[in-house]
Amino acid sequence: MILGCIADDFTGATDLANTLTRRGMHTVQTIGIPKGEAPQADAIVVALKSRTIPAADAVAQSLAACRWLKANGAKQIFFKYCSTFDSTDEGNIGPVADALLDELKSDFTIACPAFPETGRTIYLGHLFVGGDLLSDSSMRNHPLTPMKDANLVRVLGKQTPHKTGLVPYRTVKQGAPAIAEAYTALRAQGIRHAIVDAVEDKDLDNIGAASSALPLITGGSGIAIGLPANYRVARLIPKREGAAALSAVGGPGVVLSGSCSAATLGQVERFAAKHPARAIDPAELAEDPARTVASLLEWAKPQLASGPVLIYASAPPDKVALVQAKFGREKAGEMIEHAIAELARGLAQSRVKRFVIAGGETSGAVVSALHVQALEIGPQIAPGVPATLSYGGTRYALALKSGNFGGPDFFTQALDALS
Ligand code: ADP
Repeated sequence: MILGCIADDFTGATDLANTLTRRGMHTVQTIGIPKGEAPQADAIVVALKSRTIPAADAVAQSLAACRWLKANGAKQIFFKYCSTFDSTDEGNIGPVADALLDELKSDFTIACPAFPETGRTIYLGHLFVGGDLLSDSSMRNHPLTPMKDANLVRVLGKQTPHKTGLVPYRTVKQGAPAIAEAYTALRAQGIRHAIVDAVEDKDLDNIGAASSALPLITGGSGIAIGLPANYRVARLIPKREGAAALSAVGGPGVVLSGSCSAATLGQVERFAAKHPARAIDPAELAEDPARTVASLLEWAKPQLASGPVLIYASAPPDKVALVQAKFGREKAGEMIEHAIAELARGLAQSRVKRFVIAGGETSGAVVSALHVQALEIGPQIAPGVPATLSYGGTRYALALKSGNFGGPDFFTQALDALS
């Protein structure tokens, strides 16, 4: 392993793993800290769920991940958080970055959530989401991490007792040597965390090149774009273009959808027009979950030999609102996630190994029901969604799609990509 990554949530981890894979690194994503031997890979992304837990817990989990990654050979550590810098005055970005710096016996790192391709740019330390300052974007009203200040030097400054500083755009645009000189100068001033401006994707390449000697880098998945080139220059990885194809698992394919996003509703409609499809009825499910799951499995299994099937809970906002009013938002969500996880388990028992799952939380429930501990990352199916192959034990080919990812034919494209 060359690059060891710690991601503060599951889909963010996949996003990062996808970025590294596309830039030629063989990457494996683990769900939590693996218990056994480290998978063979150039980069391992340990997915935690530490974004909004108490800071002390996030620190403890991140340190444990860091120690595991170092013990398994990681030469550089990357702490990945959201490109909208999701955090509060209590953390968890500052406390985790400080703890990782101490662990790595280092006194300087950068913080760069920029990803210009997806509209996240930083200018004079201020984070923009598309054309809006972070503090004017919908992140202002986020239920857990409301971002009311776009000045990241100030935001991060509240999360750490140490000094925070800035590498401004006028330096960044001069290229990697100038950025590296700025790091040295800031470090000499006792600055421990430097926000780095970036307004174009080429800035990320330069920041990556300037950061080759840092034991710790922190940022969004965008900043990872510039890292693989360093390892190629150092001859730690061969020259590769994109992802290698994953081994085939074969057999029938299934789509399970628990996402109610607009894109998913369109994908369900498109797929259901050409393939057998069944909706999960929340009222029936609440009454008798075991019988509902069993009858869906009975319906699905005999058809699998002739082609893929779709089972979905996805529904438009007015129907979701009715279900939530009846059962409560959380209870309804959990009940449906659990049912979809049980369906996946039941289908896996019938030797289904190719699953397309729609919904971030839904994917988490399925991955845990199938006891998946790690995912090998394959070619991209749609932006942000790679084909994956579960690692160790039974091997499942999985496409895990959250929210609004993918075009109208995503389900068909994903099944084609999962061989
Ligand atoms: P997304 O990635 O689109 O946000 P998630 O799976 O993360 O999808 O979240 C969707 C949530 O909505 C899940 O908790 C799921 O169980 C729930 N859900 C799915 N269908 C319905 C429905 N018909 N009524 C109410 N809740 C639903």
